[in-house]
Amino acid sequence: ERKELHRLRREPTRTRDGHDIQLHANAESREDVAEAHALGASGIGLYRTEFLFLQRHELPDEEEQFRAYRDVVLGMSGRPVTIRTLDLGADKADRTGLALRDEPNPALGLRGVRLSMARSGLLDTQLRAALRASGYGPIRILVPMVTSREEIATVRTRIKLIGRDLRTQGYEIADYVPLGAMIEVPAAAIALPGYIGKLDFLSIGTNDLVQYLLAADRNNEALAELYTPLHPAVIRLVRDVIRLAHARGKSVAVCGEMAGDPAFTPLLLALGLNEFSLHPGTLLEVRRRIRECDLATLKKRVPALMRARDRSDIEAWVARACAD
Ligand code: PEP
Ligand code: MG
Repeated sequence: ERKELHRLRREPTRTRDGHDIQLHANAESREDVAEAHALGASGIGLYRTEFLFLQRHELPDEEEQFRAYRDVVLGMSGRPVTIRTLDLGADKADRTGLALRDEPNPALGLRGVRLSMARSGLLDTQLRAALRASGYGPIRILVPMVTSREEIATVRTRIKLIGRDLRTQGYEIADYVPLGAMIEVPAAAIALPGYIGKLDFLSIGTNDLVQYLLAADRNNEALAELYTPLHPAVIRLVRDVIRLAHARGKSVAVCGEMAGDPAFTPLLLALGLNEFSLHPGTLLEVRRRIRECDLATLKKRVPALMRARDRSDIEAWVARACAD
């Protein structure tokens, strides 16, 4: 069994009926990047930069961030690296004093792009470091916790200005760095038609999307039954986002834990997903599951999936899809 999985490192990620699927890796350490590369990941779909800011008292400067991002880019030898701007807030324990302490509702507070915009020096330093790394291989910039169009417009403007500065200072950087949004706040998913034109790509963060859509804390054990992507509202919204993105020619991935669970692979394929971003530890299992799936058969079952009324209906659909 382990041997068989190991053999899949060199195999393409392709459904039984010949559809190629991209498997990107979520990474936050050197080890993750090395593993992603070894397993044949299509790229890094989510580089969580938070870890650079945790367990320390002073902020990493531009040089330190640049070296970290450049190393990831070099580590992936030409495959695209998606650098997510800082997603810190009172929900994560940082000691730099950056995030507010004791917010009454950390998950609904000053986190992600909200914090980056409130501390503009922070965003600019991070963007400078990331853009400098673009001189070493393809990068994309991903913005967490986007709620409104203005946030993307602001980051886009900063990227343009910082890019201009860096070129003037003699840095060789990419001509263009794609900008994407995490779709994890329900409002951002619902209002997407109004600003998708401002995005180059999208990444659906189901961990937070499920939390906010179902009003169920992702870390609260008492709500574990309720906290699940197998709710008709989640399925519907994920389907709509994927559909709209593809209709507008934009790439869209799912990068929440859901993408790394092989039980959900047929469901995501049925919803039209062709890009997954997952922890490298789950990459081969998901690749194996994709290779067992017949996309045409799954698509025929989408109407039944959309008729599901509750979790148990969706569970039954999933069980059946995994059985054949
Ligand atoms: C998500 O919310 O699904 C996600 C991938 O981001 P994080 O888990 O870092 O919040
Ligand atoms: Mg998130």
